[in-house]
Amino acid sequence: MSRVDELEKENFDLRQLLEISKSLNSTLEYNRLIDSILHTCLAQLRVLQAGVFVRREADHAELILNRDYIGFDLDHSISYTIPPNHPLRQHLIDKPDCYTSEQLHAALPADTPPCGLSRMPYHVVVPLVARSDLQGIIVLGRRIDDSAFTIDERRYALDIGRLAAIAVYNAYLFDRATIDSLTRLKQRHVLEERMLELFKQHGEPGQESLSLLMLDVDYFKPVNDTYGHKFGDEVLRRLAEIVLQHTRPVDIAARYGGEEFIVLLPNLETQKATEVAERIRMAVEKHCFHHGNEELRITVSVGVAEYSPPIDNLPGDLTARADEAMYEAKNNGRNKVVVSRNNRPAK
Ligand code: GH3
Ligand code: MG
Ligand code: MG
Repeated sequence: MSRVDELEKENFDLRQLLEISKSLNSTLEYNRLIDSILHTCLAQLRVLQAGVFVRREADHAELILNRDYIGFDLDHSISYTIPPNHPLRQHLIDKPDCYTSEQLHAALPADTPPCGLSRMPYHVVVPLVARSDLQGIIVLGRRIDDSAFTIDERRYALDIGRLAAIAVYNAYLFDRATIDSLTRLKQRHVLEERMLELFKQHGEPGQESLSLLMLDVDYFKPVNDTYGHKFGDEVLRRLAEIVLQHTRPVDIAARYGGEEFIVLLPNLETQKATEVAERIRMAVEKHCFHHGNEELRITVSVGVAEYSPPIDNLPGDLTARADEAMYEAKNNGRNKVVVSRNNRPAK
């Protein structure tokens, strides 16, 4: 390659990195960021398999392979995690580099215990180091043309990793600052801000519809009065888990108030949103809560509303309709899902 060609290539790579930086910094939401990192790797590094290890939760030091990995054929019965004190982590902080699996294996002490990374069929790893700490690890597998990574490509991958590390760290800080400490769900303002963004994108491809669920625990005051507030808190935590189990990564579940939850469902219309609500309602109804030896059941009432531009100007308008439907569910005997009257099919 002539010097001019080299400079042109460098110039091209720098422009690409600038674009990548813009794209990675355009979101603070973990799931969207991971998606953006993975697709950047697929396109820029020409791989068929990519995954990212990140913190499991804001206050967890353990790294876990994010479930949205692409292309790897993994064993679902294994949890791919890297514990906080694993020697691999300190090594990647001290000597951050884009390592092939052989290089990394050789660099670590022979008695290094296996971890989630060593159980994966990866080709290279890219550490995400920011703030002198390991924010995560990108794992890359097979290339499109089965070629090995050149030194230049590994340097480029490391540059992408540096940008991704800052974005992941910012998303982590944002996550910590916007999560409800009791339930681990989002705080309601996060959902409301996202809702406003989605209102603007409504009608664009992939954003043809948008629905909202409002959930309220039935007869929760007696639960507190009978079993105590601490147990009530435990119930709320468990309910939040059930809600999360029945929603997709793109959905946002938030704590709306005391024992009220709200769920934003992008690209779901009334019918599908009602099915999600029903699944949550039934899962709660079936769940057995334990207080000592005593078993108790709890139910929720859910209101469903779909964004309808002529009547919903602000996030509050849609929320009010979901709330109204939820009260109707209460008045109809509780443990029910009710659709906002504006979204019911005309008779
Ligand atoms: P229903 O909604 O079916 O009409 O009855 P309810 O008993 O759930 O309704 P109400 O709104 O009267 O009571 C809500 C209760 O939720 C009151 C309060 O004790 C409880 N609550 C609110 N926030 C929390 C919380 O953070 N922890 C616990 N343990 N309880 C909470
Ligand atoms: Mg309430
Ligand atoms: Mg209630």
